[in-house]
Amino acid sequence: MPFSEAIKNAVRTIPDWPQKGIMFRDITPLFQNARVLRSTLDQFVHRYMEEEIDLVAGIDARGFLLGVTLAYELKRGFIPVRKQGKLPFETIREEYELEYGKATVELHKDAVRPGQKVIIMDDLIATGGTMLAAIKLIRKLGGEVREVCAIIDLPDLGGSEKIRAAGVQVYSACSFDGH
Ligand code: AMP
Repeated sequence: MPFSEAIKNAVRTIPDWPQKGIMFRDITPLFQNARVLRSTLDQFVHRYMEEEIDLVAGIDARGFLLGVTLAYELKRGFIPVRKQGKLPFETIREEYELEYGKATVELHKDAVRPGQKVIIMDDLIATGGTMLAAIKLIRKLGGEVREVCAIIDLPDLGGSEKIRAAGVQVYSACSFDGH
């Protein structure tokens, strides 16, 4: 069995949560399974080990768990991209469209120095709105986004394609068809 299948098998799908029509891809069983957790994270560590990267950015909140672990293993710094109103110091912010309504993510204005090379990690890419907002924040501070990565991509929602169109490579450990 390819390893991406083992990862998919460790993801639990909850239909109609948190609202009707959403197939929620729950990664808590993957976190719970020591073997799958380690091999999943190792895959990202090996991918970036030889790359020139200064920082790993993680997206609120599951991207924190993954991103900080990756940063630790790569011996690099970690920066959090947070939902609005959570960061204590001066921030820059980016608003983006959700399926229903809008959301805002923020970054501390001293999180990235001009020219620093950053990868961004989250658990899942759906419409790509969250990742694109994070990319804009890092670029606003003069950072260079080398790649964005996630455990799961939902390619039919077009997010990863939009991110590539914005000039950023996308890597995911597995993908699910449909939404
Ligand atoms: P998007 O901005 O549409 O790409 O959505 C990505 C963000 O929303 C990620 O931080 C995910 O954790 C969360 N998300 C969106 N859709 C799902 C889903 N079907 N299952 C689990 N998380 C999701």
